[in-house]
Amino acid sequence: MELKTHDYYKDHSKKLKFNTKALIDGKFVESSSGKKFITVNPATGEPITEITSCTRDDVYTAEKAARKAFDDGRWAKMSPADRKDILIRLGDLIDQNGEELAVMETIDSGKPIYDNAQGDIPDTAMTFRWHAEALDKLEDSMTSGDGEHVSMIVREPLGVVGAILPWNFPIQMAAWKLAPILASGNSAIVKPAKLTSLTTLRLGELAMEAGIPDGVLNILPGSGSEIGNALGLHPELEALAFTGSTEVGKQLLECAGKTNAKRVLLEMGGKNPCIIMPDVKDLDHAAEEAVNAVFWNMGENCTSNSRLIVHESIKDAFLEKVIEKAREWETGDPLDPANRLGALIEKSHMETVLKYIETGKAEGGKLVYGGSRILEESGGNFVEPTIFDGVTPDMTIAREEIFGPVLAVMTFKAEEEALRIANDTQYGLQASLFTDDLSTAHRMSRALRAGTVSVNCYAEGDIGTPFGGFKQSGFFSRDNSLWANRQYTELKTIWMQI
Ligand code: NAP
Ligand code: MG
Repeated sequence: MELKTHDYYKDHSKKLKFNTKALIDGKFVESSSGKKFITVNPATGEPITEITSCTRDDVYTAEKAARKAFDDGRWAKMSPADRKDILIRLGDLIDQNGEELAVMETIDSGKPIYDNAQGDIPDTAMTFRWHAEALDKLEDSMTSGDGEHVSMIVREPLGVVGAILPWNFPIQMAAWKLAPILASGNSAIVKPAKLTSLTTLRLGELAMEAGIPDGVLNILPGSGSEIGNALGLHPELEALAFTGSTEVGKQLLECAGKTNAKRVLLEMGGKNPCIIMPDVKDLDHAAEEAVNAVFWNMGENCTSNSRLIVHESIKDAFLEKVIEKAREWETGDPLDPANRLGALIEKSHMETVLKYIETGKAEGGKLVYGGSRILEESGGNFVEPTIFDGVTPDMTIAREEIFGPVLAVMTFKAEEEALRIANDTQYGLQASLFTDDLSTAHRMSRALRAGTVSVNCYAEGDIGTPFGGFKQSGFFSRDNSLWANRQYTELKTIWMQI
């Protein structure tokens, strides 16, 4: 999507219309309680609109509709080619309404239009198309058997799958869950994050327009402690996919254990390292990537490389370049395409980030760039990109996920030390490594304990590669790739005497 001007986007944002109702059984409805909640623009502090607040009862109503849709096969037994066509149409509708979705996402989440227009929204459309295109090309298998039996190994949809979404990549995470859930023939119940429900609710309208049958996709806005918890404890739901904090993820495992042992798939936090080896010649490229790795999405990113681990011999030269590159990342109104950092999601989260900055100073970190709240007069939650030098691995800012634009710079002397620091965390989502030596790249990328390791770039892979975490960053879950489809299916053996 081509970027337009700041004025154009401001004007567009005033003309937006919002879907504020839940989607249950193909209809847009108010919640059974009649209660509503307000969604706020993080860049202004102003309310945007009121959204219906679903209840535990609504979860049960949605599950019944989703179950009926699954059992009568209106989606699960539709020919794969027809299911594919509907999901491709949904991808196309997302593209056709891309600018509206990008502006809506920007005002609801504080994320820059720069990213929403060029990344999140096109990626959302592509994710639906990718899983759609794959779905009628998958094959089941047979084993060699014993001559007296035919043995088939087949995959079948699970049934009704819940999805609980985070606020940091709202519509994109909806797609990362829903595209493979629906492509595999399941029915779905989705709970967007309360702070950012608007684009997922709009996605529901586009899904209906694309022809997804009634009951197959249900969207319930509302609070995690009510809707999310009800999904976790539901006695019939076959599976629950989650992206969010490690704390809530662990609670959902307990919910499943207390009820029907549903399949729980968790994508959780990260405290990701970026290692710079002393042999790197193109320090400008490495610095550019390191800055993108930490400040992209204001650091509200589970793969944010918030720990920069640099060889001591090049640290000063490298840090200088990192600061130089960080200066290019303007912070301000997310509707202005010149800004690479927008507003943090809410005031309380901004205060948490500012507290981490104070802790960084108090524990002896040397603040070398940024460190303050800015643009307070806007009413928005803006924090400058912030860099601490002289951090040691035991400091709070080197250990806890801040989920804000804060970089902790550490040094090492030897490769083993770099790996020890990098792996010394409860998380294991992503790691970046910069080296010009091929053997070092192979050796260290295997030694890093993370679901994705990117070498000489910062990356999460793409739609064709699985995305998920080791250790407390994940639990059995992989988004993207055919691995995502597989996890929303059951594996069945059919053993037949000839
Ligand atoms: P969160 O508090 O865990 O919220 C995530 C979702 O869970 C929201 O929809 C939330 O609902 C819901 N929820 C809250 N309490 C719940 C409960 N008791 N039972 C069931 N659901 C509940 O996390 P967040 O603050 O939104 O997101 C930030 C975290 O997500 C970070 O830790 C980040 O690393 C992680 N993250 C991970 C990935 C990944 O792929 N690994 C990607 C993005 C983010 P509400 O609407 O009430 O908030
Ligand atoms: Mg909002």
